[in-house]
Amino acid sequence: MSQITFPATRFQQMDTPFYYYDLSVLQQTLSAIREAIRDHAHYQVHYAVKANANPRLLALIAEAGFGADCVSGGEVQAALNAGFSSKKIVYAGVGKSDKEILTALRAGIFCFNVESVPELEIINQLAAAQGVVANVALRINPNVDAHTHAKITTGLAENKFGIAMEDMLPTFQRANALTNVRCVGLHFHIGSQIEQMDSFVHLCERINELQDTLEAAGHSVEHINVGGGLGVDYIHPLANPIPQFRAYFDTFHAHLHLRPQQTLHFELGRSVVAQCGHLISRVLYVKEGHVKRFAILDACMTDLVRPAMYGSRHAISLLDGQGNCVASSDADLRYDVVGPICESSDVFATDLPLPSLQRGDLLALHSAGAYGEVMAFTYNCRPLPSAFYSDELKAES
Ligand SMILES: *Cc1c(COP(=O)(O)O)cnc(C)c1O
Repeated sequence: MSQITFPATRFQQMDTPFYYYDLSVLQQTLSAIREAIRDHAHYQVHYAVKANANPRLLALIAEAGFGADCVSGGEVQAALNAGFSSKKIVYAGVGKSDKEILTALRAGIFCFNVESVPELEIINQLAAAQGVVANVALRINPNVDAHTHAKITTGLAENKFGIAMEDMLPTFQRANALTNVRCVGLHFHIGSQIEQMDSFVHLCERINELQDTLEAAGHSVEHINVGGGLGVDYIHPLANPIPQFRAYFDTFHAHLHLRPQQTLHFELGRSVVAQCGHLISRVLYVKEGHVKRFAILDACMTDLVRPAMYGSRHAISLLDGQGNCVASSDADLRYDVVGPICESSDVFATDLPLPSLQRGDLLALHSAGAYGEVMAFTYNCRPLPSAFYSDELKAES
């Protein structure tokens, strides 16, 4: 993989902070996924829109033939607007409102991932009123430890998400008794930023048991949806921008006992978009403390909230005048890289080795394409960050 270069001369003239999307990295990522599932005609990947709903990215992902995984009526609408086929849209969420359910019913989406019995009954009611039959998959909580951050693990027993395993059969029977829902699938999602394939192996084993249970009771489903969660390399994003898609899909191929005719659905978010996005910021001030040295940026938690919210860390590079990331050296100083917000969690890095920084220097915070721009907010009356794309900056430079 060649080292990425940033259009620094353009950046110099631009107001910071902003998101910069390298669309060739996105295209390479989409190609890597397509390549990894090429021999599995019954695999379908739905991009998890919540990772980044930027319309340009959505349009490229739709164009590449992916489906969409949505968690709100707004996301269903955004996916439709971007050109995703309604027949490839799945919709999950523990608290779907009537209005959101109606949006999805009217669009004729592929499937609702249902998280509780009361929700199942409301979808049935609303579908009956519309004179349609809704496809549903039951989201089962598999009680698999994803070995990831507590705030992004979703598959353990004491979660608000999904239906408990022991309630699967009764819920399935309840669904079968309803006239306007068809229970066509089982859905799972165990968490995010999962780096050990072991967790996915455990998920497969659990699904195999659940399918056996279902069949022993005389039921079957047309599809299995294993959710998302594949992790990305936040430590070496430039050297390793493409996630381990082949190992990921091979894990399911090796361990999941799909029945003949069953399709297998995936909902990848982070791994699709994380590495194509960078938050570009300027150093406002370098403050020499007594113990620490601070680089105070013009970007902050309102632009990229992951560090404040999850304690996560993004690799940060100084960009030189040619747009290259300046390699770190032994002579590096250590900086706490912080934003201007009056919150002690507004910190991007502590004790980070960086070349000597000056006011006005451009920094790139890498791996910011997922859960970055889409989570920006306006606390302190700050404007939302804007977004620029590699193709438009190239064309104008
Ligand atoms: C968040 C989420 C995803 C995507 O997770 P990533 O870790 O970004 O791949 C997929 N499915 C569901 C149900 C989700 O909530």
